Amino acid sequence: TKTLHIVGGGMAGSEAAWQAAHMGVQVVLHEMRPTQGTFAHQTEYLAEMVCSNSFRSDDDEQNAVGLLHWEMRAAGGIIMQMADEHALPAGGALAVDRDAFAQAVTARLLAHPNIRVERGEVSALPDDGQWIIATGPLTSDALGQAIATETGRDALAFFDAIAPIVYFDSIDMSKAWFQSRYDKGETEEERKAYLNCPMTRDQYEAFIDALLAAEKTEFHEGETAGYFDGCLPIEVMAERGRETLRHGPMKPVGLTNPHAPDVKPYAVVQLRRDNALGTLYNIVGFQTKMKYGAQANVFKTIPGLENASFARLGGIHRNTFLNSPTLLDDQLRLRSKRNIRFAGQITGVEGYVESAAMGLLAGRLAAAELLGLSAPPPPRETALGALVHHITGGADAKTFQPMNVNFGLFPPIDAKGGRRGRRDRYKAYTDRAKSAFTEWLGHAGRNAA
Ligand code: FAD
Repeated sequence: TKTLHIVGGGMAGSEAAWQAAHMGVQVVLHEMRPTQGTFAHQTEYLAEMVCSNSFRSDDDEQNAVGLLHWEMRAAGGIIMQMADEHALPAGGALAVDRDAFAQAVTARLLAHPNIRVERGEVSALPDDGQWIIATGPLTSDALGQAIATETGRDALAFFDAIAPIVYFDSIDMSKAWFQSRYDKGETEEERKAYLNCPMTRDQYEAFIDALLAAEKTEFHEGETAGYFDGCLPIEVMAERGRETLRHGPMKPVGLTNPHAPDVKPYAVVQLRRDNALGTLYNIVGFQTKMKYGAQANVFKTIPGLENASFARLGGIHRNTFLNSPTLLDDQLRLRSKRNIRFAGQITGVEGYVESAAMGLLAGRLAAAELLGLSAPPPPRETALGALVHHITGGADAKTFQPMNVNFGLFPPIDAKGGRRGRRDRYKAYTDRAKSAFTEWLGHAGRNAA
């Protein structure tokens, strides 16, 4: 028989099970709760939302996560179906009644004739059979160790240290400039690896004050073990001394500001190119536990970033995730063990919706493989395709950190006839994505012969 084993009945595992079962594959879904819990989960339901009850924006014309909703609905996703059935009024966002939602997902999966749910921890990586590992940011210790043994210790992280990411086109290049420290990098492309924002002494002092005063979020209980190696939040660095940042990530050495070659900056904020397209830049060393509102205010005081628009803000969390760009192929298979796929947050996406989306894709791809069907990955013009391409190929493996879906991951749209306004541009992205996704759905899962 064609059996697919899925480990983890969270957002990704539940969606993967639904998709594969729907394609006619027998699914065994292994979930460790309630036998073993995590510090964040409270119930034994499948697809439990561990924190907020929101799937974020539902705007499928102007927002990348709204577009991902649209694509998941088009693909018959169970997470979106149950979210729609249990939606609560929330303006433009899709918020749900979390218990009713998770109960409904659980009931649907249990009622499906092709799905069996087995409770209990899976603690080793299987050698044969078709498997999807979707154990999430709080993967059990035993399985985490087994994965680290297979991938190498450096290729599995247990914490994320997310620096804010800025859209390149929102940076004021009359203040910022491209340059690698000590002019490393010969070609034009290499020069664009870094860009720099200069600060005077007064600006630096004001920035430190703002960091110290900003509101911070607390770690959850049980979340912090081991976190202080190598990923200190910038505000903690600032607390250790007002000069610490100037001798660390903001050191002004090896750089010359072409806008004012004679003035030596007192400090420099560096941004590093975050994707091959050059549409996104992350602020180097700026992982932080500041609250989102405070981050935007503090970072906009940086010269050149006054009008910055953020693809994502910074954070630090307990988060088990793979270095997917080196470990996974475009079918989400582990390169070293192709009978194993990964899905969900452990692949280096971030958020309920993105995690469920990776489950949707892995479930379809695994089922297609078992059934001998061809299943190309979705085109990069779609939200699903842009995201999977980013984690399995587009992102820089050396600095890989979890990612939300955003328009910076999409191939840019040619602004024929001059610059378009943002609304027109986003509408063009989502129109293009919807037609590409519809076409992909028509082709995917066709008989390989
Ligand atoms: P999960 O939904 O966590 O599912 C993984 C499942 O695998 C769990 O049910 C777990 O019990 C099970 N499991 C783990 N190890 C094993 C094993 N060895 N054997 C069998 N089963 C196993 N995202 C948001 O969008 N909004 C938020 O507000 C938000 N808040 C968060 C707060 C916290 C504290 C954490 C840790 C994460 C938060 N996230 C949030 C991220 C969120 O957890 C993920 O986006 C989403 O739940 C990931 O889906 P997943 O399917 O990959 O993992």
